[in-house]
Amino acid sequence: MSERDEIAVVGAGLAGCLLACYLARRGYPVALYERRPDPRVGTPERGRSINLALADRGLDALRRIGLEEQVLADALPMRGRMIHPVVGEPQLQPYSASGDLAINSIGRGALNNTLLEAATKLPGVRVAFDHRLVGLDPATGEMTFETPQGTVTAHAQVVLGADGAGSAVRGQLLEHDLLTESADFLDYGYKELTIPPLGGDFALDPGALHIWPRGTSMMIALPNPDRSFTCTLFWPTHGTASFASLGSKAAIERYFAQHYPDVPPLAPTLVDDYQHNPIGLLGTVRCDPWQAGGRVGLLGDAAHAIVPFYGQGANCAFEDVVELDRCLDECADDWSAALPLFQQRRQDNAEAIAQMALTNFVEMRDKVASPVYQTRKKIEHALERALPGRYVSEYELVSFSTLPYAQVQRRVRRQYQAVGAMAVGVLAALAGAAVALGRRRRR
Ligand code: FAD
Repeated sequence: MSERDEIAVVGAGLAGCLLACYLARRGYPVALYERRPDPRVGTPERGRSINLALADRGLDALRRIGLEEQVLADALPMRGRMIHPVVGEPQLQPYSASGDLAINSIGRGALNNTLLEAATKLPGVRVAFDHRLVGLDPATGEMTFETPQGTVTAHAQVVLGADGAGSAVRGQLLEHDLLTESADFLDYGYKELTIPPLGGDFALDPGALHIWPRGTSMMIALPNPDRSFTCTLFWPTHGTASFASLGSKAAIERYFAQHYPDVPPLAPTLVDDYQHNPIGLLGTVRCDPWQAGGRVGLLGDAAHAIVPFYGQGANCAFEDVVELDRCLDECADDWSAALPLFQQRRQDNAEAIAQMALTNFVEMRDKVASPVYQTRKKIEHALERALPGRYVSEYELVSFSTLPYAQVQRRVRRQYQAVGAMAVGVLAALAGAAVALGRRRRR
């Protein structure tokens, strides 16, 4: 086993660390290159904690390598969306018909550290922190890194880019004319705010993902094990109603009092967070192909970054790792066959979740608060109970199954068509009955 060539994984983020674990299990020596210092010893970047919702796809990938329980020890289950109106009491919308299926809130840092720790404990995995990839020759696997000690080079038979949405590996393939890419940014950005514990306890229900849907803006909050909530405010970056429009403490206080009135009493650092936390960008990155010459490959956000509104980016990246492992099995570890097969299996699925994530933005921002949407959800849950296994909502298929995303899209389309046909049938029957009743009355 140890005779295998060393594989270079660029990026010790979520996908990179999990990938290192899977590759080490296959007997590969792995060099994990990360541009940042060791996150287990430093202080996290301000306003970049980003807690994640881990769902079945992510958990499945962790379970296969024996890490599910350890990861879930740092997570909190959320069984539904708690919708906060401007006026009135918050309302819970369960995620599933049974009401007991849950996605799991976990800090990105905690998850990354658990995976990193697991990877470094495996024989054959070495991590080089403070190594920023700045050059790659896709033909030879020669890599150039910037480090605090200066520029260093390294070589690997196979180089895998797990270096996130702004992937330098992808950039190198682009520079060598080996792929094309597109990046579609939303005119929305995001900013993190904090709701600390209140009197030692959670200030809001910790069993839900909280949403404040406000049309042009939206805020969500996920619980943390220390009983705080990380809130993420989504808003256009420019314009009259945007992050740029609140220039003073008074303006911030006025805005939140008007649109998010239940938040300021729970968020003592609101103004400071707003003024000092950075604005993150949101976009969809597509590229093609995802590999070059069977020697360089991309996965996770590096191959297909998506907007975060379905809470699936990391889940999808973890699924990539499982699929790549499966492809290596099927191709007897012939990378020149496995990497193209991996792309063939995953690209449609990545595109499907990219589209669903964009659609879900409109749902979360605008629709969840409307009575029509709430009635539709109740009907959907009733259908799920009446037709168990035959009618399953899109949310459940995405979050509580491992059915490939592209198949989810097709199945949901078929379900809507069937329900539409049923509704037409019911309406036709009702119309027929009304006509017959009218005739009988006239006689
Ligand atoms: P990353 O996690 O970005 O890791 C990339 C790593 O590569 C980093 O460690 C980086 O430092 C390193 N790196 C970058 N460039 C270089 C270089 N040149 N050299 C060496 N190393 C490099 N997903 C979910 O599943 N559920 C959610 O609820 C969810 N919520 C989100 C909320 C927000 C606001 C955002 C922005 C994202 C959210 N996501 C969510 C998406 C999720 O964070 C990403 O999909 C996931 O982190 C992708 O993992 P990755 O390993 O591919 O990339």
